[in-house]
Amino acid sequence: MVKETGFYDALGVKPNATPDELKRAYRKLALKYHPDKNPFKEISQAYEVLSDPKKREVYDRGGEKAIKEGGTGGGGSGGGFASPMDLFDLFFGGGSRMQRERKGKNIVNQITVKLEDLYNGATRKLNVQKNALCERCEGRGSRKGAAQMCMSCHGTGMQVRMHQLLPGMVQQVSTVCVSCQGQGQRISQKDRCKSCGGRKIMRQKKILEVHIDKGMRDGQKIVMNGEGDQEPGLEPGDFIIVLDQQEHPQFTRKGDDLITSVELQLVEALCGFKKPLRTLDNRTLLIIAHAGELIRPGDTKCVMNEGMPMHRRPFDKGRLIINFSVVFPPANFLPTNKLKELERYLPDKLEAEQSESMDDDLYIYADLEDCDFENRKRRQHQYHYMDEDDSVRTGVQCQTS
Ligand SMILES: [Zn+2]
Ligand SMILES: [Zn+2]
Repeated sequence: MVKETGFYDALGVKPNATPDELKRAYRKLALKYHPDKNPFKEISQAYEVLSDPKKREVYDRGGEKAIKEGGTGGGGSGGGFASPMDLFDLFFGGGSRMQRERKGKNIVNQITVKLEDLYNGATRKLNVQKNALCERCEGRGSRKGAAQMCMSCHGTGMQVRMHQLLPGMVQQVSTVCVSCQGQGQRISQKDRCKSCGGRKIMRQKKILEVHIDKGMRDGQKIVMNGEGDQEPGLEPGDFIIVLDQQEHPQFTRKGDDLITSVELQLVEALCGFKKPLRTLDNRTLLIIAHAGELIRPGDTKCVMNEGMPMHRRPFDKGRLIINFSVVFPPANFLPTNKLKELERYLPDKLEAEQSESMDDDLYIYADLEDCDFENRKRRQHQYHYMDEDDSVRTGVQCQTS
């Protein structure tokens, strides 16, 4: 039960939303609102908290107040987002307008990774296409010194035009200079660089090697400084990789812990077992429950230091958490006389059977049946019988295997 639902409401999801549902809701809303406007800041803040399992837990327990008081616990605050704009860039690529003035465009690329990659670390080669300064003219667009100042805009790249609204009322309109396309300079046809045709930039293909560190998380971004688009006169943008982890058939990650489930036969649950379990780096753990150490259905146990490696501290690992379920044997696995024998070894029933003293007049016999309507109909058909005192009874038959 959550204390308050404000953040969930902001994203339009239920408090039990999965991380995936949160991500989808956020993307949809973020596209709808302008990044400088209020609603965007609100949904970003909500998403920032709810997308972080630790912060979400704090919020669910103590509400927005607890988050503001900083109850997220110290130590390794990796993965947090600094500002709504960071989040926006993460999802939609490209820098904010402010950034575009100083730097070339960031290139954002999402890559799909397996849980194994985040456990063991991995290297990926990415084929990247980006704008790069022309190598032949070094981004000048011409021979050295051949460019001339644009006379239409006097080198500013902007043209100011007067627009008369009413007699005596003039509006000033600035537009990008048409003659030089805002470059502020002109290069005569004959001086243009043969490689780029005076455009100064070329499309460049490059192979980037991305290192995924042990312990990185779903949604984490890897920034490769200066590997984004280049533009003349600007610092190059960054290449940003966002990790998108596929679901794993056997393990679920929760923070630094790994969660898995193991199915036990009744005899294993009661009498102990040794079970092999393959780890994400292909070792085999032998999980042992000693005789007498009974495991109940739904029991949770953990193996220390067999969870996910921690980012930048790969020798420290979280826990491996195992949820146990117990499979009961099928009906009639023992003949009735053997069952009587088995009963002697099991703890006593809470209320001793009173078969002798039971008075038929005081009790109404109630047999158990399958709740599944279709199954019941079929079975009633097969097992109906009339007993001596003419009451209709149905045998309990469970064939589920
Ligand atoms: Zn060139
Ligand atoms: Zn111009």
